[in-house]
Amino acid sequence: MERNISVTENGHLLLGGMDAVSLAKQFHTPLYVLEEDKVRSAMAAYRSSMNAYYDGKGLVCYASKALCCKELCRIAAQEEIGLDVVSLGELYTAASVDFPMERVCLHGNNKSLEELSYALDQKVGYIVVDGLTELETLSRLAKEKQVTASVLLRIKPGVDAHTHDFIRTGQIDSKFGFALETGEAMEGVLTALKTENILLKGLHCHIGSQILETEPFVHAAKIMMEFIRDIRDKTGVEMQVLDLGGGFGIRYTDEDDPVPYVEYLKDVSGEIKELCHQYHLTLPSVIIEPGRSIVGEAGTTLYTIGCFKEIPNIRTYLAVDGGMGDNPRYALYGSKYDMLLANRAAEAPSKTYTVAGKCCESGDLLGENIPLPEAKVGDILAVLSTGAYNYSMASHYNRNPIPPTVMVKDGTARVIIKGESLEDLLRNDV
Ligand SMILES: *Cc1c(COP(=O)(O)O)cnc(C)c1O
Repeated sequence: MERNISVTENGHLLLGGMDAVSLAKQFHTPLYVLEEDKVRSAMAAYRSSMNAYYDGKGLVCYASKALCCKELCRIAAQEEIGLDVVSLGELYTAASVDFPMERVCLHGNNKSLEELSYALDQKVGYIVVDGLTELETLSRLAKEKQVTASVLLRIKPGVDAHTHDFIRTGQIDSKFGFALETGEAMEGVLTALKTENILLKGLHCHIGSQILETEPFVHAAKIMMEFIRDIRDKTGVEMQVLDLGGGFGIRYTDEDDPVPYVEYLKDVSGEIKELCHQYHLTLPSVIIEPGRSIVGEAGTTLYTIGCFKEIPNIRTYLAVDGGMGDNPRYALYGSKYDMLLANRAAEAPSKTYTVAGKCCESGDLLGENIPLPEAKVGDILAVLSTGAYNYSMASHYNRNPIPPTVMVKDGTARVIIKGESLEDLLRNDV
């Protein structure tokens, strides 16, 4: 499967109608570039298909851990979707742009008192409770504030999405949520139903990330619907909300062939509606939480190539002016990316390189066996599909400032996250 890229007449990569080489000149490198149309169209496609498949009872919450900043929160609000936040910082960012809090879900396996208290004050739509200790704490806080907390319980459905024949084992061992197999989940529901100042609205599950097939999602939805039926049979209470999490895969390289996300929604909603019919349940409100699939492919990182090191008969290192500080994913998980030379984007590859960063760490690589044309010092390297889990995972390792993010659209560019200055690095030093 060939990737769709646009190239100018003089062979430069085009991003949102902007020449990537000019972007690199104007904003310097390393530079995160985000294509606004891609972000908005992913949000809009999710929103309209969720509405269609769930008869207007669907909600898309963008998982902001993939890339969180004020402008992304504003765009999510404009596209009329919700947000999934996992920390005080993400919630605070959403609040700073007056994000509609009824469309926010707060996650986390060890939420602090401050986080829970702030979430109650902000009246977030759903607090996804991860365990009984948290349920007690939340009940106490809500009582003090004389409010009722709207709660989903995080369930481990026992679907291991990363083995091909996903099986219902091995998943009890996760730090997240209540296990189904052991009866812990039912106990959690029974406890939540009788806990003061807690309104149990429904259930949540999230089965993993970068999942490329629909079956694991359908399977998880089935397990959750069976559990909703069991709860109804035992207590007479029907869960009103089913949050199925995120995890839809994207294309990083040729090896990835993701199912278009509308397909996931079609298959999963088909299963849910069928089971509602079979079990005589009312269709719940369904939430999904895509992160990577909204921003991942919209992002490209630009670097300048600084030097080469040829190790005869082994490999040629090509070093760029960024690295694990702005993209730790290869160092962390061996994640693969497609790369090209932004100033020679139409040239065919003729060599393979090991792409290294500039950090004092041998493992500071962005990729190995990367096919490129014979590269030269000063060429601009573009790493594709870096919109998710790059900026949000960036660090100051080696005291390299975190690069800026520019949003491009229709041939214009605007900074949405400023790059850090050297002064910024010293700001909190005493
Ligand atoms: C990480 C996460 C997501 C988003 O996952 P993606 O793979 O980026 O779609 C959604 N919900 C929860 C609870 C998560 O932990």
